[in-house]
Amino acid sequence: GLPARSDALCRFYDAAVVGRLQREKELANLLDGSIKNRDFIVTLQPKVRLSDGKLAGAEALVRWHHPQKGVISPAEFVPVFEKTGAIVKIDLLMFEQSCEFLARWIAAGREPVPVSVNLSRRHFEDPGFLAPFVRIADEHGVPHGLVEMEMTESIFFDDEAIGNVKKAVDAMHDHGFTCSLDDFGSGYSSLGLLKEFDVDALKLDRSFFLDDSSRARDVVESIVDLANKLGLTTVAEGIEDGEQLRFLRAVGCDLVQGYVFSKPLPCDEFERCADERGAAALRNDDPLQP
Ligand code: C2E
Ligand code: MG
Ligand code: MG
Ligand code: MG
Repeated sequence: GLPARSDALCRFYDAAVVGRLQREKELANLLDGSIKNRDFIVTLQPKVRLSDGKLAGAEALVRWHHPQKGVISPAEFVPVFEKTGAIVKIDLLMFEQSCEFLARWIAAGREPVPVSVNLSRRHFEDPGFLAPFVRIADEHGVPHGLVEMEMTESIFFDDEAIGNVKKAVDAMHDHGFTCSLDDFGSGYSSLGLLKEFDVDALKLDRSFFLDDSSRARDVVESIVDLANKLGLTTVAEGIEDGEQLRFLRAVGCDLVQGYVFSKPLPCDEFERCADERGAAALRNDDPLQP
C-alpha cells in the first residue's frame, strides 16, 4: 500500500543523505594531510585570442590527486570546502602555485600572459581577504596586472553579498588586479549585474554553446555586443569544435577557452602546449582556419 511505499522512499532518501554526509566528512578528514602532502595541484587551461590565434592567458584550476582515493573532482570537493570554509586556503594554494609558474615563465623570457584564479564566495566575507594575495604576488615578483580574479555570478545571492563583492572589486582594482564574472548565463545572471559591477571580463558559460539553434546564437551575439559596448573582454568557455570558434570570431568574441585547444594541463605541459599553439597559429591545420 501507499504508506509502506513512502516509508521505503524515506529510507531511500535517508540513505542518500547519510551517504552524502559521510562522503563530505571523509573529504574534510583528508584535507589537512592532503595540504601537507601537496596533493592539491594547479592545472592551467589556455585562453586563445580569436583575432590572431595566439595564447592570451590561462585559467588556474585545482586538481586533487589523493594517493589512496585517486583523483577527486573539484565539482565534488569545492562545494564541500565552501561549506567548511577551507576553500579559502585551497584558493590561496592555487594562487601561490600560479605565481610560481608565472615567475618561472617570466624568468624564461616568455611574453607575459595573465593567469586567472577562481575565488570562492567565502573570501568576500573578510574585508581583508586581499592581503595574502598581494603578499604572495609580491614575494614572487609577479606584476599585479597579470593577476585576474574570477568570481562566479552565483556569489550575488543577496544584498549583503552584493555590497561585499562591490567593495572587493574596488579593492582588487586598487591593487591593479583585474576581475572577471565567471559562468555568466548559467543561472542567476541578471543584466543588472553588468550595470552594478565594474568587472573587466565576462566569461560566457559553457551552457550557451551546448545549443546551436539560431536563437541560442542570437543570444550569444547580443551578449557579446553588450559586453563590447561596455568595454569588457569576452571569453567563451567550454568550446569544443572549430565551427563554434568561427561563429564566435564572426560575432566579435575576444577569447576562447576549451578542449578545442586544450584541457587544463600541469604547468610543464602547459609550457609545451603554449609553444605548440604559437606554431599552430601560423599553420593551416589550426582549428581557427576557415
Ligand atoms: P569554472 O571556473 O567555470 O572552470 C571551467 C570548467 O570547465 C573546468 O572544470 C574546465 O576543466 C571545464 N572545461 C574547460 N573546457 C571545457 C570543454 O571544452 N568542455 C567541457 N566539457 N568542459 C570544459 P573543472 O576544472 O572540473 O572545474 C569545475 C569548477 O570548479 C570550476 O568551474 C570552478 O567553479 C571550480 N574550481 C576549479 N578550480 C577551483 C579553484 O582553485 N578554486 C575555486 N574556488 N573553485 C575552483
Ligand atoms: Mg573559472
Ligand atoms: Mg566558468
Ligand atoms: Mg563553470
